[in-house]
Amino acid sequence: MVERTLALVKPDAYARGLTGQILARIEAKGYKLVALSVLTPTSEQLSEHYAEHAEKPFFGGLVQYMSSGPAVAIIVEGHRCIEGMRTLAGSTDPTTAAPGTIRGDFGRDWGTGTIENIIHCSDSPAAAKREIGIWFPGENSGN
Ligand code: UDP
Ligand code: MG
Repeated sequence: MVERTLALVKPDAYARGLTGQILARIEAKGYKLVALSVLTPTSEQLSEHYAEHAEKPFFGGLVQYMSSGPAVAIIVEGHRCIEGMRTLAGSTDPTTAAPGTIRGDFGRDWGTGTIENIIHCSDSPAAAKREIGIWFPGENSGN
């Protein structure tokens, strides 16, 4: 099985009509989109997805942001796509994320106190497997 990762086009990006451009970048990189779903994340899904951040001071704001409207969940496939998608996404803070990255090109600080940064990508094979299970129950998570 070729490596798979989980990406989320976050609600800020979906609301701004950036989904197509983001998908185009993933395809231009050469990765395959093997599943796509438009959905408004529930706080239950987000508590599972962001379990590692449950005790962080930004957790409440993060859940509010991520459940504010439709998002797009994607299973991306390709050799080393976990590492590759993190590189394509850029660093967490969109203000300082490198130009040329998705966060660097499309994201900014809106002064809300929550980091709205366009896209999520799994950060390890274990995270990819776990996160694919949350957003696509029943799909083969690979890895
Ligand atoms: N986040 C935030 N405030 C912070 C740190 C993170 O709002 O101080 C949000 C941001 O949207 C980020 C997500 O929480 O993408 C998960 O944080 P993580 O550090 O795992 O960043 P990522 O893996 O998404 O780059
Ligand atoms: Mg993370």
